[in-house]
Amino acid sequence: MSFESLGLSPALVRATRERAYLEPTAIQVGAIPAALRAADVLGCAQTGSGKTAAFALPILQRLSDIRRDRPRQVHALILVPTRELAAQVGDTFRNLAQYLPEPLKIAILFGGVSINPQMMGLRGGADIVVATPGRLLDLVEHNALRLGDVQTLVLDEADRLLDLGFADELARVLEELPARRQNLFFSATFPPAVQSLADQLLRDPVRIEVAAEPEEKPDILQRAIEVDTAKRTPLLRHLIKEQGWTRVLVFVATKYATELVCHKLGLAGIHAQAFHGELSQGARTQVLSDFKASRLQVVVATDVAARGIDVARLPAVVNYDLPRSAVDYTHRIGRTGRAGQSGVAISFVTPDAEAHFRLIEKRQGERVPREQIPGFEPVEAAPGPVSDVNGGVKGQRPSKKDKLRAAAARGGSST
Ligand code: AMP
Repeated sequence: MSFESLGLSPALVRATRERAYLEPTAIQVGAIPAALRAADVLGCAQTGSGKTAAFALPILQRLSDIRRDRPRQVHALILVPTRELAAQVGDTFRNLAQYLPEPLKIAILFGGVSINPQMMGLRGGADIVVATPGRLLDLVEHNALRLGDVQTLVLDEADRLLDLGFADELARVLEELPARRQNLFFSATFPPAVQSLADQLLRDPVRIEVAAEPEEKPDILQRAIEVDTAKRTPLLRHLIKEQGWTRVLVFVATKYATELVCHKLGLAGIHAQAFHGELSQGARTQVLSDFKASRLQVVVATDVAARGIDVARLPAVVNYDLPRSAVDYTHRIGRTGRAGQSGVAISFVTPDAEAHFRLIEKRQGERVPREQIPGFEPVEAAPGPVSDVNGGVKGQRPSKKDKLRAAAARGGSST
């Protein structure tokens, strides 16, 4: 299968070739012809499946095909959950658009940076807008852009948009859009809220599920290493040296932990940088570009980096702290094994996190064998169920019986 045979113009095919896309991925084979004929699309696509080009290519083609009566009116709107993803998707559009005979203006809008340059950038309009919902609404309220001419709406990583609490903003953006439009909807997971949003937005969508096809599953070797809490940094150092990773993305639970782990790795001569939501946008961009250019070996990040970040040929991801949910786990490990490359995702399982990891395994329907590394075998005991003051098990409400037992133990009467 070739990009030409999907109906793309020579200018777009040339751009894919330049990006070394040899042939379309499954999501591209499914979505491009459907989107070109203006159908709605529902894409159930894992990270790394090539979904950005799957919506960017047909949008670019349709925009360059039609005679735009009013150029520089927003004709395509792409909503994304994070600023990193906005920058990344915007870059993909610009790269793929570079050989089009008539240039298209692509605006990238996200919060956390001053609004003024974005307002200036919108002077004279834009053909394609890639935005996070909050900043987009701010700009609409400032009359910096209008959304009444949008012909195609893309929701990228819809599950993450809802997870991050963008439901209200999304509803407000939808009010600004014309009712007749094309909707392209992409999500890695379909919990009920995402499904009902898809049902509300899409008309007779062409459904494409690439996650179910084994050959499209990212090639990620999952490993789980049992280790004591206090031995995780030495184990990480050991793995970095022993495995010879050129680059590794390490996930921890808090901003504080990103800095602490970086500091400890630095003492061992390993160049690491922290990446978390409280860094300035400039600092985040710098860390990412150093990492992408291999000027930086280790990035220690919170879940801010779990979605949307695309680092080509990232060989390894380490869960130093486990993620809170199975969905976050999927997104974290999806940073490696992208676009046909293989990768390894290692989770450190401390004795007190064993039960939580079992839950993650259960949710994703896959068991990861436990390993121990010589010299780092755990000696901490796994905690038993923790009793609270009422005699219940932590995390559960005490039952009537628990309360009676606790009252009896206190020597009181239950009546
Ligand atoms: P995405 O799922 O859109 O985040 O894309 C993941 C990675 O795959 C990006 O680095 C893309 O540049 C790359 N990619 C997209 N389409 C193709 C293709 N047809 N062949 C090879 N790589 C691709």
